[in-house]
Amino acid sequence: MTVELNHTHDAGARSWLDAANAAGCDFPIQNLPYAVFRRTGSNELFRGGVAIGDQVLDLAALAARQELQGTALDGARACAHEVLNGFFALGPTVWQALRHALFALLKDDAAERSIAEVRECLVPLVEVEFRLPARVGDYTDFYTSIDHALNIGRLVRPDDPITPNFQWIPIAYHGRASTLGVSGQRFHRPMGQMLPPGAKAPVYGPCARLDYELELGIYIGQGNAGGEQIPLADADQHIFGLCLLNDWSARDIQFWEMAPLGPFLAKNFATTVSPWIVTLEALAPYRLPWTRPADHPQPLAYLEDPGNRAHGAFDIQLEVWLESAKARADGSGPSRLSSTSFRHQYWSIAQMVAHHTVGGCTLHGGDLFGSGTISGPGPGEAGAMIELTRAGQSPIALGNGEQRGFLEDGDAVLLRGWCEKPGAARVGFGESRGMVLPALG
Ligand code: MN
Repeated sequence: MTVELNHTHDAGARSWLDAANAAGCDFPIQNLPYAVFRRTGSNELFRGGVAIGDQVLDLAALAARQELQGTALDGARACAHEVLNGFFALGPTVWQALRHALFALLKDDAAERSIAEVRECLVPLVEVEFRLPARVGDYTDFYTSIDHALNIGRLVRPDDPITPNFQWIPIAYHGRASTLGVSGQRFHRPMGQMLPPGAKAPVYGPCARLDYELELGIYIGQGNAGGEQIPLADADQHIFGLCLLNDWSARDIQFWEMAPLGPFLAKNFATTVSPWIVTLEALAPYRLPWTRPADHPQPLAYLEDPGNRAHGAFDIQLEVWLESAKARADGSGPSRLSSTSFRHQYWSIAQMVAHHTVGGCTLHGGDLFGSGTISGPGPGEAGAMIELTRAGQSPIALGNGEQRGFLEDGDAVLLRGWCEKPGAARVGFGESRGMVLPALG
């Protein structure tokens, strides 16, 4: 059901809410992404909402009215909480029932009485604040872009840039859920150990090579009790949806500490996600075949499936923007650093889920995966600054004349994502924004 197109994907469908029909809107009636919100600065309880146009549809308020019945009402009630884990646990049948009921209520042919009721449940987007939409028990960050791996590998191992396992395993490390933050997150430049070039002993100090990583976040919907394997063919049924994710990275700390057990302090100080989760059903029009070049190793049998071959990839447009403190002050605005698509990723999100569980690992609803840095094959498609600037050797110019090799204090990094093509409605992810504050040490 996350693959087949249905009436909720009809590009001609329009909402009675004019803002949802505007060209370039991230949140038309075909999208209906989920977040957890409240009015900014209020004492209201956080609760689940769905974006439509320039509004949030308050699902707690809607569940208390008479417009939903049956399975859809069960779904909306499960969203009337400060995290969406309970909704995730209800599974794909309920997710779809609520989506289809909300689509009917927001469509331009809804009954006048229903429209009046739903209007009472709308809150303007500009008046709300967000929190993490789920209680994230565990967070795993993958490394699944071959262009990213090649770009990084050439910097450290020019003769042999790709490790032998990369083409066989969706590589990952277990990260920290405790420092996840929602868009708007601010964090202090991390302190740590790093080995200066040519030095024999490390120094302790503030990170001098602070970077971002453009990624998608993947929320697990229903887990796997007792660590039962999730077969690749079933993996989509366990994924609730996708968000934007910035895996902030301290490169100097990372390269000193990483061998032999992987990133530690380099990655555990901040990870920023967008508030909105776009469901797999909303993304169905943007699925593509997952392919592997014929002269590359083909997946082992447990990572191979006809459905994954037919529609395992997603064509999601992604951009990274940087707004320096100076650009904020002089009004020149953010500069675009790169743009690419998720379609180039070497492993699919379904393969990440299948591989994660094949050894017996239990996933819980609300667990979060990072896709790994998303870099495309062309120039200007790199998803991290270390690639764009060749580890700081070739600084990039910002729109106002400033240059960057790595991030400076006061820099804000914005991730944006959307899907668009002829014959389908635009589906947007909104924005993930995070800002670097000076080190505390
Ligand atoms: Mn990462």
